[in-house]
Amino acid sequence: MGIRAGIINAYGDYEDVLRDIRRFTSLAHGSDVLTKALLGNYALLDRGRPLEDLRNSIFRTALTRNSRCPLCERAQVCALDHFLPKNEFPEYSILADNLIPVCERCNRLKGDECDKIDGLLMFHAYFDEFPDCEILLTDVGIENTVSIRYSLHRSDKVDNLTFARVEKQFKILGLFDFYQMEAIAELTDQIDLYDEMYASLGDSGLRSTLSALARGAERKGVNHWKAALYRALSRNAEFCSGGYRKLLTSPMT
Ligand SMILES: [Zn+2]
Repeated sequence: MGIRAGIINAYGDYEDVLRDIRRFTSLAHGSDVLTKALLGNYALLDRGRPLEDLRNSIFRTALTRNSRCPLCERAQVCALDHFLPKNEFPEYSILADNLIPVCERCNRLKGDECDKIDGLLMFHAYFDEFPDCEILLTDVGIENTVSIRYSLHRSDKVDNLTFARVEKQFKILGLFDFYQMEAIAELTDQIDLYDEMYASLGDSGLRSTLSALARGAERKGVNHWKAALYRALSRNAEFCSGGYRKLLTSPMT
């Protein structure tokens, strides 16, 4: 089979490769010349090159979803990630389905991640649905200061393989620590709002505000980090009865 036909076949196999990466090897495997040629295609997406429009249209599509990175749901997209790494599968270096706009941080941390041993791939923004039952939980601690800790808990509605992929994604992208820092920053910015709600409507007013924030975030997904955060806070009696003020206390004091 010619190279061109081989690549067209590989494009047709893309979703099968996603389903079970362990069964597939790149058509360029073992050929440095072919690997180099296919990797070189990626430069065709650069400004002024023949596939510049493809790059632009992928980023335009990302703008319709608020330009948040699909891997962390936090940072702005700015880079194209090869879901199947181009060094491992160079035939997919310019396949649109394999090019996903992500943030700089996730692009760097994901790197050439491609688990050919266990077949545990990360979540593909175009082909995979993240579990839609609550598996991301937030633990709220109120002592000298407010502490936030994220964790994953498997639900019976999520199969073992899917849950293992979620755990892997969180580990590779360091999402527990990342969300913890983002959560504290987000809450600290909102202390004046909490003060106002608490002063005028008491515990129940603040609880309602936090529940509304949780519902708003749940529109992006029940496991969005803000949804898990506000759900936990709205259920925390101590936080809602003035404990939020401890956000102003540094953990070092
Ligand atoms: Zn990201």
